[in-house]
Amino acid sequence: MRQLTYVGKGALQWRDAPEPVLHAPCEAIVRPFAAARCDGDNLPLHRNVTMPMRLGIALHYLDPLISDLLGSRPFQGPFAFGHECVAEVIECGTDVKTVKRGDRVVVPWAISCGHCWRCEHGLTSKCSNSGDTVIAAYGFGPAMGDWGGAVSDRLRVPYADGMLIRVPPSVDPLALASTSDNIPDGWRMVAPPLRRYPGGAVLIVGGAARSIGLYAAGIAVAMGAERVDYLDSNVTRLEIAQSLGANPIQIPGTAAWYRKHAPRRSGRYLISADASATVAGLQYALRSLAPGGVCTGVGYYFARTSALPLTHMYMNSSTLHVGVSHPRADLPQVLALIGEGKFKPEKVTTLTAAWDDAPTAFLERTTKVVVRRDPLFSAAADT
Ligand SMILES: [Zn+2]
Ligand SMILES: [Zn+2]
Repeated sequence: MRQLTYVGKGALQWRDAPEPVLHAPCEAIVRPFAAARCDGDNLPLHRNVTMPMRLGIALHYLDPLISDLLGSRPFQGPFAFGHECVAEVIECGTDVKTVKRGDRVVVPWAISCGHCWRCEHGLTSKCSNSGDTVIAAYGFGPAMGDWGGAVSDRLRVPYADGMLIRVPPSVDPLALASTSDNIPDGWRMVAPPLRRYPGGAVLIVGGAARSIGLYAAGIAVAMGAERVDYLDSNVTRLEIAQSLGANPIQIPGTAAWYRKHAPRRSGRYLISADASATVAGLQYALRSLAPGGVCTGVGYYFARTSALPLTHMYMNSSTLHVGVSHPRADLPQVLALIGEGKFKPEKVTTLTAAWDDAPTAFLERTTKVVVRRDPLFSAAADT
């Protein structure tokens, strides 16, 4: 079979790989037909990161955990690439109960069993039965397990009942290509705090997590936030934010700007989120909180330590949430919101390309890339 393979900076290729087979009765084999580029994928696609990361770890500038997570040579190609897709089920083991051949399903980026203590408590990306890697996931190379990548002819799903979730029949699967990761990542930045503070004002600091910040803005609007201010330097993303119902605010996005404009005492937002993936952006989001506010950071903050305004947070009774996303735990609610038509993730997609063109499409410097091909089964098989 053919799988999209990361070779190095600016180099993706179709390469042949053995077709995966079922290893246990709880497994399924699926065929992805809509796949998306995760915001985090841009890091190795556009930069040489292997040597700088090795050096950064050796010099104690970067967190040593990165070696455990990504191996001693982070992002060293070749490896199967991509971890966001909607797929159709091709084959199920005899124990699989919740999906069947022909069903259209979301495949979460991380491996999870669905029944261990962590899975039952919403920590699906830290599943206890996913092997001995720091995270077990598709599309990051052997350090996260030999699971293959989402832009492949076939994927093995080790816990079909625990991981797969059927797409709502009313929604175009193309719109859901990022529900494996980035859309639930946007959800977790705003949905839990909006439950705590219904209608609360929301600030999204946009940037490197290009699509996640926009998904968060759209979900916050859909959930009835009193106002959703979206900050970014990128005009296209600001226009998308506006189309999602958020209030776009153009900023330079520099550390100096964040420092200069951060409120000294308290801000106006009960909920804030940093999608700039910069410590300066995170500090700004924290200082913009109203008393009791909740801030979530979704960027990769790779430094061994990052400066936080702890005095401000203490006096403001702020909460900071960082942590890997757990899409499988949130997907039922995320898909329900999209199924109701209240939030349209397709507005964030800036490039839809043919499946065969994935090696070039995934390199485009744009917000959200989705590649598609025809499914084998008709949608009727889904109902
Ligand atoms: Zn991702
Ligand atoms: Zn588990």
